[in-house]
Amino acid sequence: MTHDMPTPGAGLIGKRVNVLDKGWIELQDLMGNDLAIVNAARTSFLGESKGTDKDKKLLFYLMEHRHTSPFEQVEFKFRVRAPVVTWWQWVRHRTWNFNAQSGRYVAFEEDDFYVPAVWRKQSPSNKQASLGQLSESEGQLLFDALGEHYARGYALYKQALEAGVARELARVFLPGFAVYYTWVAKVDAHNLMHFLHLRMAQEAQYEIRVYAEVIYEHFFKPALPWTAEAFERFVLGDVR
Ligand SMILES: Cc1cc2nc3c(=O)[nH]c(=O)nc-3n(C[C@H](O)[C@H](O)[C@H](O)COP(=O)(O)OP(=O)(O)OC[C@H]3O[C@@H](n4cnc5c(N)ncnc54)[C@H](O)[C@@H]3O)c2cc1C
Repeated sequence: MTHDMPTPGAGLIGKRVNVLDKGWIELQDLMGNDLAIVNAARTSFLGESKGTDKDKKLLFYLMEHRHTSPFEQVEFKFRVRAPVVTWWQWVRHRTWNFNAQSGRYVAFEEDDFYVPAVWRKQSPSNKQASLGQLSESEGQLLFDALGEHYARGYALYKQALEAGVARELARVFLPGFAVYYTWVAKVDAHNLMHFLHLRMAQEAQYEIRVYAEVIYEHFFKPALPWTAEAFERFVLGDVR
């Protein structure tokens, strides 16, 4: 039996949302929707959709009772531009599939470096967190210093390239954590929710949290509205 639930993901493919100063996330591909999750669960007894109300109820049951594998039937593929400080944490999520731009093939441009909007201060109580920010005048000195640092690092990189050094080695002159890289990143909906739960939390570093929030608000919610509702009710709670 089929029913008339619209396909919410339609129109999302190709959508790009800007993140941080020079980054973005684009949805390259999407497989499945809320109904695919319900139908996967009903495969257990060779059944299909039983209409909107029962389908939604089943999906909520799956989420509440951590019956997770049906959520793995939906796949998202993103193209993401993010600085290394973000990737450094993102690639720890082993259930994603990644392919990355290579600094061995492609030379970096002068503008390929992350500039934070403000300087967050070290939290006195939480060793890995930030709290508050520097004043405008204190911050300006550091922004000027950062601009000089990037310009100097990039000039040395170019100097090394011009001297014939290979791209793979010349990049040691670049300010590593700040360099923007473009990756393709694919994940199923179950493992994406795990990532979102961890990385939308207040304890997550801002530079990855903003990517997680864009994924959730601009791609996950419109693609899987029932799943998002159930996720907020049974999993997310007050992490945001
Ligand atoms: C706020 C925060 C602070 C962090 N601080 C640090 C830090 O200081 N140092 C540091 O090294 N990391 C740190 N991490 C990274 C963290 O330890 C995890 O590596 C990262 O969050 C990925 O989580 P995961 O392993 O659950 O996800 P995934 O790798 O996506 O795995 C998902 C789930 O699959 C299962 N799984 C995947 N691979 C295996 C496997 N090989 N064996 C068994 N089960 C597996 C696990 O159940 C896992 O939860 C931090 C993460 C957060 C969110």
